[in-house]
Amino acid sequence: MGPAPWMPPTNPRSQAGGANNSGCPEMVFQMMFFRWHTHEIRVLYLWILQPPIDFFNQLNLIYGSLVGICTASTCATMSAGKRHEYRWADDVSTAKPVRLSAPEYMDRLLSWVQSLLASDTIFPIGLETEYPPDFFDIVCRIFRRLLRIYAHVYRDHLELLTGLNERCHLDACLGHFLLFAIEFRLIDTRELSPLVKVIRSMAANSTS
Ligand SMILES: [Zn+2]
Repeated sequence: MGPAPWMPPTNPRSQAGGANNSGCPEMVFQMMFFRWHTHEIRVLYLWILQPPIDFFNQLNLIYGSLVGICTASTCATMSAGKRHEYRWADDVSTAKPVRLSAPEYMDRLLSWVQSLLASDTIFPIGLETEYPPDFFDIVCRIFRRLLRIYAHVYRDHLELLTGLNERCHLDACLGHFLLFAIEFRLIDTRELSPLVKVIRSMAANSTS
């Protein structure tokens, strides 16, 4: 099982609102890109903090539903179909990417994200604290890696999870994740290639 859901009880991020709040994504992105450390930027950073926590908790639950389904025997490597393989590196203990089984990869990934979200240096609480200069890069790295769990689940375990009546919940989580990530340009569109068919299907269903 992955790490327990992380809930910051007195964190102003919790009241900062979610992806449905009004705002100007282009302006948010541009100001983040240029890293203007103004009071307004810190407010916007707070606004963007809650969704990653929600996405982390959702993926933690999805990972939990894979127990007994996704094992080192069934998934000896972390992949998304036959054409996409992901290797793990956390830039600290494993700077050189290593091949891991899918469950071990996801376990390390979720633990890595949890440690980042819990870091007051990377995700400071309050408006008076400076964000690190690479804050936006870190958020992008988190989203890029979390997407790999969806890619693995959809490409390698969808049939079983659909049989367990998990498909609806899975689609809702992925849809929310993608809408936010694409809106704020947190993921390079090339990273979406393992999920192209799924995304097209979801888009078609949403307009029919
Ligand atoms: Zn698996």
